[in-house]
Amino acid sequence: MIYLDYQATTPLAPEVAKAMQPWIEEKFANPHSPSRWGSEAKAAIEVARKQVEHAIGLPGGSVAFTGSATEAINWALKGTIDNAAKGRNRIITVATEHAAVLDTCEWLAGRGIDLTVLPVQADGRLDLDLLARELDERVAVVAVMQVNNEIGVTQPISEIADMVHNVGAVMLCDAVQAFGRVELCKGPDLVAVSAHKIHGPKGIGALWMRAGAEPAPLIHGGGQERGLRSGTLSPALCVGFGAAARLVSERRDADQAHVAQLWNAATAALGGRWSINGSVGERYRGNLNIRREGLDAARLLADLRDIAMSLGSACASGSGRPSHVLRALSLSDRAARSSIRIGFGRYTTEAELVDAVTRIDAMARAQENLAA
Ligand code: PLP
Repeated sequence: MIYLDYQATTPLAPEVAKAMQPWIEEKFANPHSPSRWGSEAKAAIEVARKQVEHAIGLPGGSVAFTGSATEAINWALKGTIDNAAKGRNRIITVATEHAAVLDTCEWLAGRGIDLTVLPVQADGRLDLDLLARELDERVAVVAVMQVNNEIGVTQPISEIADMVHNVGAVMLCDAVQAFGRVELCKGPDLVAVSAHKIHGPKGIGALWMRAGAEPAPLIHGGGQERGLRSGTLSPALCVGFGAAARLVSERRDADQAHVAQLWNAATAALGGRWSINGSVGERYRGNLNIRREGLDAARLLADLRDIAMSLGSACASGSGRPSHVLRALSLSDRAARSSIRIGFGRYTTEAELVDAVTRIDAMARAQENLAA
């Protein structure tokens, strides 16, 4: 199998598996209990927290662990609305956000919050003049992602955060696809990240919070994570997340150079009939979302089962619905259904990527010959 679905998830790094092993096999203490073993687990979690905070690299805040980035985003949005001053009952977000943001915003809209979902331009970038026209003193929170999961397009998060702060609102950035791959933009008050996108384990994410911008708790109970997010932490998952974060801190430049080389190799191997969805200049290059006129992308995926890739987003794949992100770029349903997402990274070799892309191109040509 050639794994080209790095936006859906990433392979566990061997160093991460090794770091987690004792916490799975031997060390079972509750990190919140006062025994010597509990204290050891707690200390390991605090080391991991520092490693994640260091990799996030933003000043003036701290991290609380969550069960996923989805939970971090739910907490950030609902908890910020909960804390918002009277009269601040608006949320602004963008049509190309992940379902974790869009569906949470819709849920809040169902409870009386005034929701504005801004469109994007044809290249997937947000028009900042449009945002400026929408921002006012009634806005409680603005949610914009740094790197899009389907098309890799980046948004100018620091500029957006400045604009948001000028009206006294809170800025949430979904940095799930940016974290560990590119430098995180300074400016947001709340930043959601996930371990399994950086070669860490599934089932753990984190919310970075600027001091003073902590949302009201979403999960109540034993008062863990400074009373902000109750629930016994898993030392194995935290240690794994920490090890993965340490690796991205050490390897980010090397990983980025590798991804740039893979991008060049993949785009050179593609025939001339493909177009790239979203901005080519303003994007993370480990995401190659491409379309070809007339292509039946679902059939292509079925015909190339030994290549793991996606029809846009992992969530949209299989649902039969064309991706909301591709539609937000004003692509027709037909063009969206002719698009595939190829995602690569640290463990992808140039040879396997070129092999896969060459076969994808040949299969697309075979479809055309059959139709002719
Ligand atoms: N946000 C983005 C941009 C994502 O790509 C994902 C995962 O696909 C999430 C949020 C949700 O992350 P998690 O799987 O940790 O819930």
